[in-house]
Order: sequence, then structure tokens, then C-alpha cells
Amino acid sequence: MEKKLRVMMIGAHPDDVEFRAAGTAVRFLETGAEVEFLVLCNGSKGHHIMSPAETARTRAGEAAEVKKVLGLTEYRIWDVEDCELEATLENRRRLIRDIRAFAPDIIIGHRTNDYHADHRAAGQLLQDASYMLIVPHDCPEAPAMRKMPVILYFEDHFRQPPFHTDVIIDVTPQMELKAAAADKNVSQVYEWLPYSEGEEAPADPQERIAWLWDGVTQDSTDEEVLRKTHSRIPARAARTAAVNRKELIRKYGEAGRKIRFAEAFQVCEYGTVPTKEELDELFPF
Ligand SMILES: [Zn+2]
Repeated sequence: MEKKLRVMMIGAHPDDVEFRAAGTAVRFLETGAEVEFLVLCNGSKGHHIMSPAETARTRAGEAAEVKKVLGLTEYRIWDVEDCELEATLENRRRLIRDIRAFAPDIIIGHRTNDYHADHRAAGQLLQDASYMLIVPHDCPEAPAMRKMPVILYFEDHFRQPPFHTDVIIDVTPQMELKAAAADKNVSQVYEWLPYSEGEEAPADPQERIAWLWDGVTQDSTDEEVLRKTHSRIPARAARTAAVNRKELIRKYGEAGRKIRFAEAFQVCEYGTVPTKEELDELFPF
């Protein structure tokens, strides 16, 4: 029997992975792969009304719902408070142990240039852990990996240095599920993010879904989606397709012109650096 591919996606907060890679996670799951989301902060400070303890509890409950909706192998959250993640030796070793325990073939995480200190620390921790994964005398209590995973970064929009698309994935067929995962992150998607962007989401669950999609459909044009400046999930995935239109056409041919929702990733040079052919084999969709 062929070994199942193992994919680990490492985010700073509950919802970071959903926003950036839930469509690709579903793609992997559809091929029979095992997918774990590992989140390094507990989400405690992502709310303007609830106390940090209440928010962390709420976010853990929402993450459990996301795990169910997407069909993830695992969704784990560290007990680190929001805005307090640091790239310490202790955290690096904790991450090394967690990665070795899951033994992924592919890891996807944050870049280190990002607006949020926790995202930067999560990116730094992943970079710091990467080479040590195969060093037996570092964290000897967790057996070292024999093969360095392929490591990639989630897409972001920071320009110094700019993100480079090495892998583009059509997630149009998975977009309903990705939006359903966003919908489970109620305290974030309908409460905190609108508050932080000076907006208000409707209270009614049906109206909220329409608000979340904001009129973005399969038939929306690149021009239409590029005009949307908020952070709602369908618009974000539509923007990724719009700005990577050339890459989509290169990969999917003429069909690439019609792809409405996409996710993009950049190869990290500190993992196994795959050839173009190996990348196509690792992401066979
Ligand atoms: Zn975050």
C-alpha cells in the first residue's frame, strides 16, 4: 500500500490557516492525505468584548467545528496567549517535537515579514526548527526525521520582500467548504474582524453568509474582486486568483481564465527544495 501523504499547516492564530489554505487542505484530504492544522497561539486577544479567557475557550470550540467541517486529521492549538508568541529555544523545541510527532512530507507556515508579531514569531520558529528536524542530538526525546519535509509559505501581501507564487491551486470546487469553515469562526469572522475594520456583520445567520460572500460568485470578474478591500474569505481567494491569472493559465491552460478562487504558496529554501516536477507530484491538483 502506498504511504499516505502527510501535510502540516502551521498558523499563529485559530483562523490563520483556514483563511490562507483551507481549500488546499480539502484538496489534499480528497486525495486521501492526512492534514493537521497546528496553531501556536490560543486566539485569546482576538476580541473586543469577551475576556481573553472567554475568547480562547470560544476559539477552541470554533476550531473543533472547523476540524469537523473540513474533515481534518487533527487541529491542535498551543496554550500560548495571543501577542505573546516568541521564537524562544523552548518554543523551537516544542515545535520540533510536534513536527516530528506528525512526520509531515509537506509543511506550510507564515513568512517572517508580516504585520503581526505572532505571525512573524511563528514564521521564525518554523525556520529555526527546519534544519533541526533531521538532527538526532537535538531534542533526542523525539526521534529525528530521516527526510527533510518540503516547506512552503502561505500567501501574504507584504512587499519587502514580496511574496512569490511558486504553487497556485484552483480551490473553486472547495470554496463552499472553505467559506463554511470561515462561517464556524463566528467570533473572528463576524465579530472581531468587522470591528477591527470598522464594519458590522448582520446578526442573522443566513444574512451573515450573504455578507461573508459579498456578492463574489463564480462569474465575478477580476476587476470586480480587485475593488474589494476587506478581508472576507471569498474575496481574498478571488483576489488571489485575479493577481495570479497568468500562473493559473500557465498551469491549467484555457480553464485557468475561468478559475475564480485560488490559493498560492511560496517554497521556503530551508526545507527540501523540490523541482518543478516534484512540486506537481506533491500538489497533484
Ligand atoms: Zn493571525
